[in-house]
This record gives sequence, C-alpha cells and structure tokens, in this order.
Amino acid sequence: MFKNFIKTLKVAVLSKSGLITSILFGILTSLVSFIPLFFGELILNKIYETSSLEFWDVFIIALVQVLSLFIIGLLRSRIDKYNQYIHQNLWVKNNIVIAKKSLDLDYDLLESDKAKESLSRAQQGRNAFGGFAAFFVDISQVISSFISLIIGSFYISRLFEVSQTISNDGLFNFLNSYWCGIVIILVILLAVLINLFIFKKIKKVEEDTFNNVLSFNRSFSYYFEVMSDYRLGKDVRIYGLKDTILNNMKNENDKINSFYVKSNRKTSLYYALTGLTVALIYLFSYLFVSLKAYYGLIAVGSIISVVGSITNIANALLSLINSLNGMRIKSTYLSYYFDYLDIKNKKVNVKNYSKDITGNYVIEFKNVSFKYPNTEDYIFKGFNLKFGEKNKTALVGKNGSGKTTLIKLLSRLYKPESGEILINGKDIWSFEYGDYQKLLSIVFQDFSLFPFTIKENVACDKEINEHEIEKDLDDVHFDYKKFDKGINTYVYKYLEEGVELSGGESQKVAIARALYKKSNLVLLDEPTSALDPISEAEIYKLFDKLVSDKQAIYISHRMSSTRFCDDIIVLDNGQVIERGSHESLMKSENGLYKQMFEAQAKYYK
Ligand code: ADP
Repeated sequence: MFKNFIKTLKVAVLSKSGLITSILFGILTSLVSFIPLFFGELILNKIYETSSLEFWDVFIIALVQVLSLFIIGLLRSRIDKYNQYIHQNLWVKNNIVIAKKSLDLDYDLLESDKAKESLSRAQQGRNAFGGFAAFFVDISQVISSFISLIIGSFYISRLFEVSQTISNDGLFNFLNSYWCGIVIILVILLAVLINLFIFKKIKKVEEDTFNNVLSFNRSFSYYFEVMSDYRLGKDVRIYGLKDTILNNMKNENDKINSFYVKSNRKTSLYYALTGLTVALIYLFSYLFVSLKAYYGLIAVGSIISVVGSITNIANALLSLINSLNGMRIKSTYLSYYFDYLDIKNKKVNVKNYSKDITGNYVIEFKNVSFKYPNTEDYIFKGFNLKFGEKNKTALVGKNGSGKTTLIKLLSRLYKPESGEILINGKDIWSFEYGDYQKLLSIVFQDFSLFPFTIKENVACDKEINEHEIEKDLDDVHFDYKKFDKGINTYVYKYLEEGVELSGGESQKVAIARALYKKSNLVLLDEPTSALDPISEAEIYKLFDKLVSDKQAIYISHRMSSTRFCDDIIVLDNGQVIERGSHESLMKSENGLYKQMFEAQAKYYK
C-alpha cells in the first residue's frame, strides 16, 4: 500500500512543473478562504470600535480585499489552465510508456490472460478517479489544508485567551476558560473522526465497484473496436452480427451501469452525512463564539474570523484526510499501471556471443518440451531434431502436428519449458534479443502488414533503400507500379487513404520484407497459401534464386513445393516420423509423406 503511494508520488514528483504549480495552487486556495475573514474582521472592528463611521477607511479595506481576491483569482485560473496542459502531457507520456511496455513484452506474455487483464487494469486504473491529474489536485489540497490549519490555529488561539474578570455566571466562567477552546477543538475532532469513518466506507464501495466493472469494461471496449474495424466489417455484415454485437454491448453496459447506480446511491448518502457534520460544526461554533462576543470576551469583529477559522480548520482537516485518502485510493488504482510495467520478461542469459554466425546454421532441438501457456497438452515432449546441414529443409505434416510451433520456438516467441534449442551449438536464448532476430527472416502463415506505406512495410526497422525495395518486390512479382504512388502507396485505409491488397499480393509483400531483411536463414510458413496457382509456381521457381545464397526452411501443405528440398522432415503429433529426400520418402510404401503426396497429386492428374 505504502509502496504504491511512494511509486505514484515519485511519478508526480518527476513532473516538476506539475508539482510546483500544484503547490502554488494549494497556497492560493488557502489564502482565498482566509482573505475575507482577515478583511471582514478589520471592517467590523473599524465599525464597532470607532464612534464615527470612517467610510473611506472601510471602503479602502473592502477595495484591497476585492483586489487581492481578484488577483489571486486570476493567478489561480492561469495555473489551472497550465495544470491542464501538464496533466495532458503526463497522460500522453503514460500512454507512450504503456505502449512501449506492450511492444517490449515477451510474446507469450502478451498473449497471456494475465497480461491482458493487467493491461486492462492498468488502463482503467490510471483513469479511475482522474488518475495522475487528480493526484496532483490532491497534492494541492494537502498543501492548502496545511496552510489553512496554520493560519486557522492562529485565529482560534483567541478562544484560549482568558480575562481576569470574576463572575457568578457559570456560562460566563465557562466561556472565559480554556475549556471553551478545548470543547470546540474536541467537537472539530469528533466531526473529523466521524468523517474518517464515512470515507472508509466510501472507499470500500468505490473499490468494489471498480473491481466489479473491470471485466465488463474490457469486453465493452472490445465490442466498440469490432464495430468500427472495417476489416472485421465484412463478416459482421454478411453474417448479420450487428444485433448480436449491439445486444452484447448493451448487456455489458447495463451491467456496468447497475454497479455504478448502486455505488452512487450508497456514496451519495455517505457524502450527505459528511456535509451534515460540517453544518453542525458551523452551528456549534457560531453559538459559542457569539456568546463569547456577547459577554465581551472577544471583539465583535472577531466573530467572523474565529467562526470562519473554525470551519476552515474543520474543512482543512477533512480535506486533508479526504485528499490523503484520495491519494491512497488513487495510488491503489495507479498501482495497476505500475503492475503492468513490472511484468517481467523472461530472464535472458546473455553470454556475449558474437553477433553473427558464419557458415550454415545447424539447428538442434535437444530434449525440448513445450506446451502453450494456459494449456494442458504438450506440443513437444522430449523432442530431438537436428537440421540445417542442407541448404533447403522442408517441414511437412498434417495440420496441428507442430510445424508452426517449431518455428515459433526457433524464433524465440516462446521459450521451451525444458530442453535447449541450439544454433551452431549456441543456445538461442543466450543471444541478445536484437542480435538473434537479425539472424532470421520469417514469413508467418498469419503474417501482418501495417497501415504504413508499401516501402515501410518492406523495410520495417531497416534503412529505406527504394531501389532495393523495388527490386525485392519485382522479384516476388508484386506489381507496385499499378498504384499512382508506387511503393509510397499506403496499405489499408486505417490511417491514410490506402489500398486493400489481395491475400496473394499481401503475401508477396511479406515475402519481399523477409528478403529485404537479408538474414542468412529464411523461414517460410505456408509462403504461398494465398497465391493463385500461377503466382505460386512463379514464386517457387524464384525461390531457388531468391534464397540461393541463404538457407531456407519451408513449411508447406503443397507437397509439390517441398519436393525440391534437400531434407524433408515429416512431423506428426510433435514427433519426427520420417525424414529424407523426396525420392527416398516416396519409396516408403505406407509412409505419411507418400500418402500426403499422392493424395494431392491425384487432383492434378
Ligand atoms: P501446424 O503448424 O503443424 O499446423 P501448429 O504448430 O500451428 O501446427 O499447432 C500445433 C498445436 O498447437 C495445435 O493443436 C494448435 O491448436 C496448438 N496451438 C497453436 N497455437 C497455439 C496457441 N497460441 N495457444 C494454444 N495452443 C496453440
């Protein structure tokens, strides 16, 4: 709890300008509540203590009061505006921090429920009750409360002034004793204690509500995205999902609302009670101080400043508790933001291997066991495989046999539960992540293009060399010249008015991207699944040329495309069941390879 508080405070302190303006705002707020008391007392004393009405004196005091309130008002509104700018800035910075964290997160974590839940908490948590911006407001209130307590104590110290007059009147004697001041302070403390208790209740209600609406908010946001995503829009329209989505959204919204209605009903009652205690203090202190003035124990002009100070002190104490409590609550919610940032990637044991490896990459899976996060079934159990001595390797097998998983493990998207994956004898997890990624070019089956230009999609983080990009696109027979802006054309219509590429065209861009990366090892997972037969044949003819100086690993269902590979590995159920060249595998009468090859070949006869 305290740790969260300190962490949040640190973020707040990091924004120095935010902190300074919050403190200034707090000081000015406190002055605003005391200036009328100070000048009010001066005016009343002028009127009561002098026999003739000194109009100009009173006028000037009133004028100074108005002027000082006006100047402070101006300053406060300027600071307020500036604060909004600072809070906006902080908001943007936090967004960037969250985005950076998501981008840096281990892939399996990004996919995990834990991270999704944590991100959702982080986003909702930092918005809850105004987030960091409101935290700054609380800082202002703490400062303003402290100053009000100091100034207020100075004023109410008058309640402790005792005159030497002796009287038989018990009430007079009581009012002329320390007890009078002590009783007032006790009343203030009692009211504050009651309010403390009430605030605790409020916090519990608000915390329960936050936790209850969390998952509904997450689904509501998802539906909101679905509605406006034009790529999902096709299926939404064809399969008439509009009503289902709207109904689901409405249901989620109704649930969220019902929690808020219940929570508001409870908290508004509690807030009304806090208002009542403040009103009672007001009543009580007027009674006491007016009686004191009646008995001549205090100047009439002081009624206004002392009563005002009593209520200011009570308000300051409440505001202090409220804002400290608010800071505590907010830091609890903001802690979800820190929790997300604290999610640890897997430790990588970097042993300073050289960045490049020369020669053919020999890849070895040694006793590897792996299952996907949050699943029971192992995809690989004690799996052993060594390949890469030959230039072209093919992985074939039925759906679900583990081919893509093998590539994902090799590309370090997931870490095996046990065992090792070696590349030329070096554990792939011992490389610096960036260095390792440079070794591989992968086209995944479900590759993604981004709403950037075609050239940016090809170059990604590499320097843009337009000539080379065009050459790679030409090599995969992607016709960018048909677009007015050529390789400067945007893909998709998300950010700019771009083009919708067909599945086959997108696949060609993805292959060009893998070539442009110029890694020694190219991994192609169903690289031609979306291509028409002619393009597929062209690409396969080209592959030899495209990857001539590189090593390639193909995964393909089209057995005709893998027959040219030097080494064909047949996987089934996470195990290597056959291996060899096309010719040797075709000799195995009941072999899976031969069955698969013939099953496809008969359609082409
Ligand atoms: P292949 O590429 O041979 O068709 P995969 O390697 O894609 O097979 O899949 C192997 C098994 O792993 C399948 O049963 C699939 O359902 C499962 N699988 C794949 N990806 C995930 C994932 N992200 N989470 C859980 N299971 C997965």
